[in-house]
Amino acid sequence: MATENTPQLSPVKQIESLYQRLEKARSIFAAGKVHRILGLDEHYVVESSKGDGFYQVNGICTCMDAQHRTEVHHGWCCHKLAVELFKEQEALAPASIKASEPQPERDINDLLEDMYPKAKPTDSPR
Ligand SMILES: [Zn+2]
Repeated sequence: MATENTPQLSPVKQIESLYQRLEKARSIFAAGKVHRILGLDEHYVVESSKGDGFYQVNGICTCMDAQHRTEVHHGWCCHKLAVELFKEQEALAPASIKASEPQPERDINDLLEDMYPKAKPTDSPR
């Protein structure tokens, strides 16, 4: 007879279910559904993948999935994962920060020097 206990998830099943959430998170992130809450660190709003609402992610997510079956995903619902993807991308390409930095004035000679650093005079007559 099969046991009537709470089924213990095998490591494979656990990783599989996490992977499914990561896949979902990737599509949420790719669709631009992760938004930072301005003025609040570590606070994000993630649009529901079904498009029927928003979830607030602040360390933990407010969705049903995050509050149930935590033994499976340990709180890593697809929204929280999507926020992680968002944060990773920000860390890699802080475009908004770079854009606001003042660029030092450079003229064409500086740029040429970068590309062709002080070439040795090859054909100059001695
Ligand atoms: Zn969630």
